[in-house]
Amino acid sequence: MTETLAIGPYTQGDAAALAEEFSAKFLPGPAELGGLTQDARAAVRAVAYKGHHAFGAGEMDLLPNLGVIANYGVGYDAIDVTAANARGIKVTNTPDVLNDDVADVAVGLLLMHGRKMIAAADWARSGNWAAKGEFPLNRKISGGRVGILGLGRIGREIANRLAAFKCEVHYFARSEKQTPGWIYHADPVALAAAVDYLVVATVGGAATQGIVSKAVIEALGPKGILVNISRGTTVDEAALIAALESGELGGAALDVFLNEPNIDPRFYALPNVTIQPHQGSGTVETRLEMAALQRRNVAAFLKGAALETPVN
Ligand code: NAP
Repeated sequence: MTETLAIGPYTQGDAAALAEEFSAKFLPGPAELGGLTQDARAAVRAVAYKGHHAFGAGEMDLLPNLGVIANYGVGYDAIDVTAANARGIKVTNTPDVLNDDVADVAVGLLLMHGRKMIAAADWARSGNWAAKGEFPLNRKISGGRVGILGLGRIGREIANRLAAFKCEVHYFARSEKQTPGWIYHADPVALAAAVDYLVVATVGGAATQGIVSKAVIEALGPKGILVNISRGTTVDEAALIAALESGELGGAALDVFLNEPNIDPRFYALPNVTIQPHQGSGTVETRLEMAALQRRNVAAFLKGAALETPVN
């Protein structure tokens, strides 16, 4: 009987490690839980979870002896922690090991978008450079005013990097933080009004749904650039698309979207949008560390030891 059920799209290497360490059984997603026999479901004590499909009360109730959901990823908004608490189920995540990669993508998105690097590469490849000459001038990023919406582990790494780019750093969080002189705003609209670029690095989930509201987008304005590496849910996407279409917002550089990977097709048609396919933590090195931390949490739970990175 299996104690550990690995749910989600694991790489061959991660799957092999889960199988070797825990004799794990695998399911592609939570929707397949109902296909297991009652005995197989009753044997499960640990779920190694990967993916963004909701894992809520219904899924938990199919696993009556579940004790831990070890999430692969720092953002655990797919997991209903309130439902887990009500059932005495522990949840763990994989913080810190991915901070650098996600911050790299945030800063890369800002540079790539602001300096129009994709259009410039197309300019060269298409022969325009030789035929028409210099690529049209774009805008300076270093030294600008940047706002970080969510100064947590990843937000701080983004701020550190942009401070090295001589940017003036502003931020919003629920409380003022100890910083090297960065400017605190108690309200996301005030933050957006004070900056040229707004980088969203807050958590996903119900509490932050639409925190980048129409008012925030308007405050950022026609010269502003919105960068989002958090979750699609944090942005009012309808307001964002409308503002990009009308020019009320200068541009957006996005790693995350609602309904990934089937994102709103209007994004593809907009020239003032730079798109990444939710690849913030997507390096070989970091994904190995995330998977190892997930397995250490499963192992600790099965041994009755302290969990390394609990969230509840
Ligand atoms: P973290 O250290 O927990 O920081 C989260 C930030 O969100 C904090 O500043 C926190 O504010 C703020 N926050 C939390 N709840 C809030 C609420 N209800 N209202 C307003 N602000 C709230 O998390 P992290 O490790 O930096 O990760 C942040 C997020 O990045 C993850 O949750 C995930 O969604 C996303 N992420 C994306 C990728 C990607 O591939 N694009 C990869 C990894 C993570 P306080 O300081 O006031 O507590």
